[in-house]
Amino acid sequence: MEKRRFPTQKVKMQLMALSGNKCAFPGCEESLITESGNTIGEIASIESMSPGAPRFNPSKTASELLDADNYILLCPNHHCLIDKEPEKYSIDWLRAAREQHLKNITKLLSKPESETKVTTSVSLSKAVEVWSSERENSSEEFWQNLFESCPQLISQAFPKSMYQLGSKCYVGGKSWTNTGGNLVDFIYLNRLTGNIVLVEIKTPKTKLLGKKYRNNAYSISEELSGSVVQVLNYKEQLMKELYQLKDDTFSAFNPKCVVIAGTLESEFKNETQYKSFELFRNNSAGVEVLTYDELFQKSKDTLAIAN
Ligand SMILES: [Zn+2]
Repeated sequence: MEKRRFPTQKVKMQLMALSGNKCAFPGCEESLITESGNTIGEIASIESMSPGAPRFNPSKTASELLDADNYILLCPNHHCLIDKEPEKYSIDWLRAAREQHLKNITKLLSKPESETKVTTSVSLSKAVEVWSSERENSSEEFWQNLFESCPQLISQAFPKSMYQLGSKCYVGGKSWTNTGGNLVDFIYLNRLTGNIVLVEIKTPKTKLLGKKYRNNAYSISEELSGSVVQVLNYKEQLMKELYQLKDDTFSAFNPKCVVIAGTLESEFKNETQYKSFELFRNNSAGVEVLTYDELFQKSKDTLAIAN
């Protein structure tokens, strides 16, 4: 069996999300995506598995070298430069550059110090308590923080084991300092398959339905249909950029999308409303719509099984 020699989509995804769309070479301001939307970023191996390649390390296994930690995203010029001068740009040098770049990006993406909240981890049972007292809370930031501090809330809603890869992840646009950059609320990752789920959240107060349409149907609210379109846009952008990353591989990659919004129990008063909503979500291909009360009911069920 031929050994895998190129990073998986999962690893590429991690690299892209962590790059902040900038070349990781110190001081380089080059965006990895051009103004016209073409990806010029290149994946460079820090330690290589090919004899003769710069920074070849025969003592490491392919699986160790295929980990995201062993790669760095660079602009074409800097990729070329480091490969031409491997003595100067050594393994240690590249590791340090990668680490510094991650620090810079994290700092730039995070809020100013005064606004920064300490994210403490919250247990699922604590999160369910928060739900009972805060279900009228209409601040998207409040729910973003709760989902961030309790990653299990969203992951337990999936049939397979998923973990939170990141929140407010970069999924395209010109650059991270530019308002054109797009940040999806959450990205979850299936550890086994490398499949990714993009999650967009609204609040429990988000209206699911719009006006009554004739006698037997309701329209879908602008907010909900807008969120569905938004998460599909993120997906399209992400896939486009992943394919453009230069590394000679191409494999099928179709991330699932989830929108969490609204509350069935407080909004729906009649059968027609339920029916209209179910018809909409059963026919939204590629996007799963979950309501807050469904999500927290699932959490309660999960806790009941665990006890
Ligand atoms: Zn560069």
